[in-house]
Amino acid sequence: MLVAPAGIFCLIAKTFATQGLSSIIELIKYFLLVIFVLFFHASVVYLPVIKFYGNLNLKKFFSGIKEALLFSFSTSSSSATIPITLQCVKNQFSVRENIASFTIPLGATINMDGTAIMQGVATVFIANLYGIDLFFTDYVSIILTATLASIGTAGVPGVGIIMLGMVLNQVGLPLEGIAIVMGVDRFLDMLRTCVNVTGDAMVSIVINKSEKKWNGLRSNWKFLFTEKASKLSKHLTLKQQFKLQSKKPVSYTHLRAHETGRNLLSRLLLEKKCRGGGGGGGGGG
Ligand code: ASP
Repeated sequence: MLVAPAGIFCLIAKTFATQGLSSIIELIKYFLLVIFVLFFHASVVYLPVIKFYGNLNLKKFFSGIKEALLFSFSTSSSSATIPITLQCVKNQFSVRENIASFTIPLGATINMDGTAIMQGVATVFIANLYGIDLFFTDYVSIILTATLASIGTAGVPGVGIIMLGMVLNQVGLPLEGIAIVMGVDRFLDMLRTCVNVTGDAMVSIVINKSEKKWNGLRSNWKFLFTEKASKLSKHLTLKQQFKLQSKKPVSYTHLRAHETGRNLLSRLLLEKKCRGGGGGGGGGG
């Protein structure tokens, strides 16, 4: 680690001396492009998912995860941010413990969109800098390898740039290219870690929401075949009960397909009610 700055200086000095000042301008363009793509990805992919799947106000979402974002920005490590992200999603968005403790560590390990973006842009930048033409198959290969490399990237600072070697190798680009982008990677690492952490939090919140819906539906089904249901059936038809519980109309045959033998008595009672059009009359069977 001590000799890394000196080594990077030598490699960059050699590149700039042979390629001229224009390569510095190219490097600035690369830097700005990565920042732009990171923001573009967050606003085109994450924000609509948060808004439409998570039913969340964007301001509320960002103020809820701001601590995790600040921490990830300053540490450049999604793994170190796991406890803060867990706290944020549990306390601010009421994500259930079992969902948060599964999705957040898993996301911090394999969900590295920001890293994949940097690796893709850096590979094309290095190819341009060395004047190497890339073909369609190379682009496909870059996309696939960058995705795999980002999954394999550990959530600690600077690993994304090391895994970039794998992508460069795949398309036959010189590995020295890494040294050129390494000079500006620290700040990019901070930003891409924020994108990675935002993705983890977003997925956790969305899964929690979808699980809630599923559990709600499941409890409606349970309710239908409990004693409570058989009591209610004295006043309501089976269809009416289900509508009341799920707020969604379903067909009687659909309901019958899911019945269990558990509450035989209540089922018979409900069936009788339903056939009789919800009229009076009690037990039977
Ligand atoms: N620092 C990133 C993270 O922890 C990984 C990387 O791209 O280097 O999410």
